[in-house]
Amino acid sequence: MAAVKGRFAPSPSGRMHLGNLFSFLLAWLSARSAGGSVVLRIEDLDPVRCQPAYAWQLMEDLEWLGLPWDEGGEVSSCWQSNRGHLYARAFETLQSQGLVYPCFCSRVQRLNEAPHGHEVSPACPCAALTPEEVQAKIAEKAPSWRVRVPHRTVSFTDGCQGPYSQDLWHDCGDFPIKRSDGAWAYQLAVVVDDAAMGVTEVVRGADLLASTPRQLYLYALLGLEPPRFFHFPLLLAPDGRRLSKRDADAGLEVLRDRATAAEILGKLAYLAGFNPSAGPKTAEALLADFAWDKVPQADIRIPEGLF
Ligand code: GLU
Repeated sequence: MAAVKGRFAPSPSGRMHLGNLFSFLLAWLSARSAGGSVVLRIEDLDPVRCQPAYAWQLMEDLEWLGLPWDEGGEVSSCWQSNRGHLYARAFETLQSQGLVYPCFCSRVQRLNEAPHGHEVSPACPCAALTPEEVQAKIAEKAPSWRVRVPHRTVSFTDGCQGPYSQDLWHDCGDFPIKRSDGAWAYQLAVVVDDAAMGVTEVVRGADLLASTPRQLYLYALLGLEPPRFFHFPLLLAPDGRRLSKRDADAGLEVLRDRATAAEILGKLAYLAGFNPSAGPKTAEALLADFAWDKVPQADIRIPEGLF
C-alpha cells in the first residue's frame, strides 16, 4: 500500500481563521498518525482574491502552530498559479473526449465556480449551440468552459461523513472547468494537483462534500486514482453562523496575541472529540489520541468565551 500523503490546500485570500486552522490540524493528524507526510499547496487560482503576502503569512502561522509540512510551501511549482500547463493538458484530454463546451451565460457559471458553492446549475443552454453559433458568439465574448455530466449517480464512503451519493445530472449539472477570464476552475485544478502530487487522502470541511462527486467524475475521465476523502464538520461561531475570514475574533491575528499554539490546538482537539479536556496540547502530543471515529459528523458550535 502507498504511504499516506495528506495535504494543506489553503487559498491565500486572507489571514487564517479558526476554521482553516481546524482543517490543517485534522489533515496533519490524519496523515502523521498513519506515519504519512503532508504537502502544502497554495491554491492561488483566483488572481483577484489571492495575494502572495497571505501565503507567506500562512506559512509563518503554521510554523508558529507547530504544524510542519513535508513538501511544497515556498516551492514555486506547488503554487497553483504556476501549474496552468498541467490544467491545460487535462482540459485537452477532456476536450478530446468531446465533453467540453463553451458557455456564454456568466451568471449561472459563477454560481458553480466557488469551491464552497452549493447552488445547483440547471442544464446549460449553451450545450446545444451549433458550431456556427459558437463561432459567432466567441467573436463577441470570451466563454467559460464546461464539462458535460451524464445521468449517473456517483457514490463513495467518506471517512468522516459516511456513505454519500449524488446524481450528477440532477444535483449538479454540467460544471465549469475554466472561467471566461482564463482562470482555471477549482474542480479541475484540485483533481489534477491531488493526483499529480500523489495525495492519498483529502481532509477538508463538509462544505466541500458536495464537490466530491464532481471530482470523482473527473478522476475517472482523466484515468487518475482518487484519494480517500474525509470531510470534517464545520466550526460555527457561538451564535451558529459559519466562521469566515471576516470574524476578527477567530482570526490568527487576534488569537496569537491571546493564547499559545498549544492552548489553541488543545481547544480545537477538544471540540473535535479527541482531547478529553480543553487543556493545552501540542500537535505532536495530540497524535496518540487522534482517531477519525471520535470526530463528530454534525457541525460544531464554538462555546462562547472558549477562545
Ligand atoms: N482551497 C480550498 C479552500 O481554501 C480548499 C479546497 C480543498 O481542500 O479541496 O477552501
